[in-house]
Amino acid sequence: MTKKNIRRIGVLTSGGDAPGMNAALRAVVRASVYNSIECFAIYKGFQGLINNEVKPINARGVSNIINRGGTILKSARCVEFKTKKGRNKAFNTLKSNKIDALVIIGGDGSFTGGMIFQSEFNIPVIGIPGTIDNDIFGTNYAIGYDTALNTVVHAIDKIRDTAISHNRLFFVEVMGRDAGHIALNTGIGAGAEEILIPEENMGIQRLLQSLKNSEKSGKSSSIVVVAEGDKTGKNVFELASYIEKNMPHYEVKVSVLGHIQRGGRPSCFDRVLASRMGVFAIESLISGKSNMMVGVDNEKLILSPLKTAIKVKSEINKDLIRVNDILST
Ligand code: ADP
Repeated sequence: MTKKNIRRIGVLTSGGDAPGMNAALRAVVRASVYNSIECFAIYKGFQGLINNEVKPINARGVSNIINRGGTILKSARCVEFKTKKGRNKAFNTLKSNKIDALVIIGGDGSFTGGMIFQSEFNIPVIGIPGTIDNDIFGTNYAIGYDTALNTVVHAIDKIRDTAISHNRLFFVEVMGRDAGHIALNTGIGAGAEEILIPEENMGIQRLLQSLKNSEKSGKSSSIVVVAEGDKTGKNVFELASYIEKNMPHYEVKVSVLGHIQRGGRPSCFDRVLASRMGVFAIESLISGKSNMMVGVDNEKLILSPLKTAIKVKSEINKDLIRVNDILST
């Protein structure tokens, strides 16, 4: 497909919101305008595509959003898009608005939907990874991840103040059902004692032993960072009460950071990443690419098939586990 084939693109944000999605939207819209392509905002993700919640958007329509968290397009989880009937309706929306390409800013669920849609209707689709979990293969970083790391580290810093003041042991639960990227990096960044992640089963006995050793070595307070999906088989409250039972002289507290991890102003890193990815997404569509996801590899922008982004699991950096073991002694 050549440049003249793409006259109108639609852009949507889908799945879990992530800081920097607005910066990506801004870049997509302005890169389109720059290349004389009309841009249409699709509201509420695939649901808006089904319901024809579509409006033209120009360069001024994305003013003053680069610094805002969330997504001004709104996002939604849409069950109807998982049905052929729903996707037919979505395609009718594109036809009636004469939209001939789609940019999807979201996570692997959104890319799965986009890939199926592309294969059924042969509409060019480019994905931009936006998810705080950073669990997408084909990019070193997804938009929102860096901001989330900073949010979590700052939160744990505050918790540490209390932990130190009271000789407390804190279990801090962070996001990451399937991937330990947030836990591992913030655990190191915030100087955690132990880090529990979905990729490794540390075992509760080893955790207990490690905390006892730390206590013996003179530590009077500790932070344990636990990813939501950690593999000990116990949730964060059960973990805490187990440790409290076995170390009764310690005051054990739990803090679940929850949704504060998603929001907030995007970091400079995420704004730059989103800006570069948005421009590259439009340039990729113009050069005839489809069914691909934009990513960054060693500072360079790359494309990889949506299929791999969805199917292949992004790996944690195992060296970080070793580093933390050394530093938490
Ligand atoms: P994320 O993109 O953050 O991973 P979800 O997993 O919730 O978020 O996916 C977002 C949306 O993508 C879903 O609500 C649904 O509309 C669409 N989607 C996900 N999986 C499929 C699928 N197998 N077929 C069609 N659409 C899908």
